[in-house]
Amino acid sequence: MSIADEVFDVTGTVVLVTGAGSGLGRSIAETLAGCGATVIAADRDEARLKQLHDVDALPLDVSDAAAVEDAVSDVVRRHGRLDTVFANAGIARGAGLTQPAGSVDAFELDDWHALLEVNLHGVAHTVRAAARPMKRQRSGSIVVTASTAGLRADPFVSYSYVVAKAGVVNLVRQAALDLARWRIRVNAIAPGPFKTNIGGGEPNAEAEARWGASVALGRMGDPRELRGLALLFASGASSFVTGSVYAVDGGALLQSMALD
Ligand code: NAD
Repeated sequence: MSIADEVFDVTGTVVLVTGAGSGLGRSIAETLAGCGATVIAADRDEARLKQLHDVDALPLDVSDAAAVEDAVSDVVRRHGRLDTVFANAGIARGAGLTQPAGSVDAFELDDWHALLEVNLHGVAHTVRAAARPMKRQRSGSIVVTASTAGLRADPFVSYSYVVAKAGVVNLVRQAALDLARWRIRVNAIAPGPFKTNIGGGEPNAEAEARWGASVALGRMGDPRELRGLALLFASGASSFVTGSVYAVDGGALLQSMALD
């Protein structure tokens, strides 16, 4: 076995990925399955789950706390343990580079509640449910997909989205401090703009160019560029990393965005 194989070994580990049917979650799930992990791919979109190979597909809406608890219990019953969880499922509503966020007195309350239900509460449900079996086994790695939008103001992202993502960043820090005594590590990744289905609709060259221009490296990320981080956090390579917020953003945080 090479040093790289040893350091990033995930063989036989049991990994749950939420939002695994598309985009970043799909890339994470397929990477780890391809490297020998047992991957439970959860998503509320069953049609998307059917397109995945070599994973255990699990229809799940993370906004339903009881369903998340049941799903985690079922994973542990069937596989005996739970080593890594990627709390990744998320949505975006409103705003975008062609449609600015609008002002604080005008955001839609429907949008606010619907988004927090998934991007904040859904993540909390997932972290909460995962902590129980991990405490019993006294090990585990929890990884939350946050966003650069949770680390700064962003004129092109909705109020609900920036607030939910800022919330999960501090959820990660609090849980990292709390769970360290059980040797459970909790970290966040903060992607910049990636080419996924989160915006809905057809790929739009103009929006893609504008998002690309908002990043120091001058382009959007490809979901495959998360493969290394998936392996890092699911393996012993990150054994001394907890409470971190790891930007994978092509340098988006280095430059400010302005409305024109
Ligand atoms: P995506 O739309 O391609 O994939 C998200 C997946 O999550 C979809 O398959 C969707 O069905 C699923 N999902 C949505 N709500 C769910 C729920 N309630 N329960 C279970 N599954 C649900 O989007 P993506 O870009 O891959 O997003 C993944 C994560 O990355 C999200 O948390 C998103 O906020 C975050 N993120 C994305 C970007 C980006 O530019 N794409 C940037 C920063 C952060």
